[in-house]
Amino acid sequence: MEANKKVPYNFFEETCQKILFEHLDAIGVAYKVLDCGCSLLCGVSAQGDPLGVLLHVSGQPLKKCKRTPICLKCKLDNGLKRVVWEGIYWPGDEREHPDKELRLMIGRKVFGAGYFEPD
Ligand SMILES: [Zn+2]
Repeated sequence: MEANKKVPYNFFEETCQKILFEHLDAIGVAYKVLDCGCSLLCGVSAQGDPLGVLLHVSGQPLKKCKRTPICLKCKLDNGLKRVVWEGIYWPGDEREHPDKELRLMIGRKVFGAGYFEPD
């Protein structure tokens, strides 16, 4: 069922849900996955504008009630030069996602003209 998901772990999805919950006008969550397993996440509006702050989360699962520690590599360079994958997380199942045209429009606004959706 989950075969199409590009996301590497459940914690990632949990964090996306949290962002969507905190920003009710967020239509999706833009993310960059780093080579160390950490990721950067930010809510995006239907106009492709960022909402709220850029969250930096570790690839390690969260321990209850503890803030996510980011890895040492990221503490040193904040990871922006080590992006291995970027995209947008759309909540719900595929029928609930925005049309492909709108998804691409938002993606290009967030990541630049080179944004595309792999199938
Ligand atoms: Zn890291």
